[in-house]
Amino acid sequence: MKIILLGAPGSGKGTQAVLVSKELGLPHISTGEIFRDNIKRGTEIGLKIKAVIDGGDLCPDDLTIEIVRNRLKEEDCKNGYLLDGFPRNIAQATALDKTDAPDKVIELVIPLEKLEHRLTGRRGCTKCKSSFHIDFIGNRKDCPHCGGELGIREDDNAESVKERLAVYKTQTAPLIEYYAKQGKLFPIDADLPIEEVFASILKVVR
Ligand code: ADP
Ligand code: ZN
Repeated sequence: MKIILLGAPGSGKGTQAVLVSKELGLPHISTGEIFRDNIKRGTEIGLKIKAVIDGGDLCPDDLTIEIVRNRLKEEDCKNGYLLDGFPRNIAQATALDKTDAPDKVIELVIPLEKLEHRLTGRRGCTKCKSSFHIDFIGNRKDCPHCGGELGIREDDNAESVKERLAVYKTQTAPLIEYYAKQGKLFPIDADLPIEEVFASILKVVR
């Protein structure tokens, strides 16, 4: 099965993707993670996109599409994929439709005014990549899952968050209609506890 998780930054795509990928045995492909990994390793791609990502804007389409196409050719994608953070605009969706069109698109629906709070209070594990919110973990510095070190994403500062939400509204939100027209869109209430959102997703994909 080919699944896309669609939703604004902070809607919980990453958190749900980890759970769903484990449950269904599909490779979790996060373009954000791929880019951050390139930045961390100081690759050519990483150097090229660091400023764009930190500012909350989108990386170039041609680069992003090529990365995803190559990733989808790998052996572990032969039974499908779980895409998180791609496509993020109509050009990317059109490109994906040409080679690896999705079966279902799950939209994580959440009131936009809640996202700023979710993002600016977010802490991420540098080791297992899980995200947590300071509302729940307070100011602890170690990951509740694996004990790894918690950090703040460079683009989770107030200014970049504003830009990311603006980019979502203008560029990514149009994908909702794009996939609805294809009959592939499944909206899910994401303003609920993690386990409940996960249960709704499983209902849709099973
Ligand atoms: P979030 O959903 O919380 O914004 P992601 O990890 O999905 O976080 O993405 C982080 C950043 O990586 C984005 O703000 C953007 O700069 C870049 N990025 C991720 N996916 C794409 C994409 N499909 N196209 C262009 N840029 C992307
Ligand atoms: Zn961890």
